[in-house]
Amino acid sequence: MIDVARARELTPGVGKVAHFNNAGAALPSRGVLDTVIDHLRREADTGGYEAANREAARLEAVYHSAARLLNCAPDEIALVDSATRAWDLAFYAIPWKPGDRILTSKAEYASNFIAYLQIADRHGVQVDVVPNDGLGQISVEALREMADERVKLVSLTHIPTNGGLVNPAAEVGKVAAEVGALYLLDACQSVGQLPVDVSVIGCDLLSTTGRKYLRAPRGTGLLYVRRTALHRLDPPFLDLHGARWVSPDSYEQQPGARRFETWEYGVAARLGLGTAIDEALAWGLDDIRDRVYSLAELLRERLGELPDCRVHDRGAERCGLVTFTLDGVPADEIKTHLSARSMNVSVSRAPSTLLDMTDRGLGELVRASVHYYNTAEEIDRLVRELATV
Ligand SMILES: *Cc1c(COP(=O)(O)O)cnc(C)c1O
Repeated sequence: MIDVARARELTPGVGKVAHFNNAGAALPSRGVLDTVIDHLRREADTGGYEAANREAARLEAVYHSAARLLNCAPDEIALVDSATRAWDLAFYAIPWKPGDRILTSKAEYASNFIAYLQIADRHGVQVDVVPNDGLGQISVEALREMADERVKLVSLTHIPTNGGLVNPAAEVGKVAAEVGALYLLDACQSVGQLPVDVSVIGCDLLSTTGRKYLRAPRGTGLLYVRRTALHRLDPPFLDLHGARWVSPDSYEQQPGARRFETWEYGVAARLGLGTAIDEALAWGLDDIRDRVYSLAELLRERLGELPDCRVHDRGAERCGLVTFTLDGVPADEIKTHLSARSMNVSVSRAPSTLLDMTDRGLGELVRASVHYYNTAEEIDRLVRELATV
């Protein structure tokens, strides 16, 4: 079990805000903060290149930490600067041909869907959206019916940004494997919140961010590329880090996933990501999930007691993202009211997950996303405040 008092002692921000925007960016621990600031000082004192050289072993260790987190090999990890960049690097590396199909889900994130539409226009690729099942998650049965050998990519968001459900990623992986399609998982909201094991899920590609449930600094992200998928992909950009210029008219790509990286990156932030991953592993992802899920259920229960409040979360497995509306009160007004009382929530709007929000007849939602360092007392305060809006 998570020692909550200890977790809060190690999190400077909890004394200043009740933070329910962990799905936006979670509060970093003191350890992450110190790692980043110490390295910025080192850069100022010794020079940026020299400081990085001194930390070479710790920088290398970040790949090993990420590999432990996702249960893969270190050479299957590329470290990049955001989840979207990680996702794009994978998606645009696929050699699209006219007639290829993409199968995706209703609750897909806007950035992903915009990329599908661009590639559809550019290459005559067909985008097919798999319907939901009765619980609001992707229907694995419908997916299996729609899948055929023309499907080049199955692309799924593990936890949609606008609601509490966790899609059945491993079941989807089985279908993708049956038709020989590549499988790309947007795990932006799940990594750091629950155990995510790429060998269980069966994805070829996975993207995630550092700043959300992993509690890492902003400007960090990572991409997993299964070793056996590398030969089916061609990185959309290559620089002198992703490849080596070996003769006037030839180059060689890096052997592993690092071919997707660029030479330049924020060294302090990457070290901070390493610390954040190590801390998540030390707490234990099973324990983090248990704590997050039970706080979220408590919040849903308490919101259910407010007469004007509607909780909109769906799914068989419900996670730390809690979404609701208050009848007659705009979401921004709720957010502003809470913010003035040092409580952070966020607002999800239709254009971020257009298909899903339109289907459900929703224009906007308030999202209160909990982490393991939140408390029942903070939830009390939040609900009490909501009753006065
Ligand atoms: C936040 C989010 C993203 C984007 O992550 P960035 O780090 O901002 O690029 C992508 N997909 C989902 C489901 C998200 O919630």
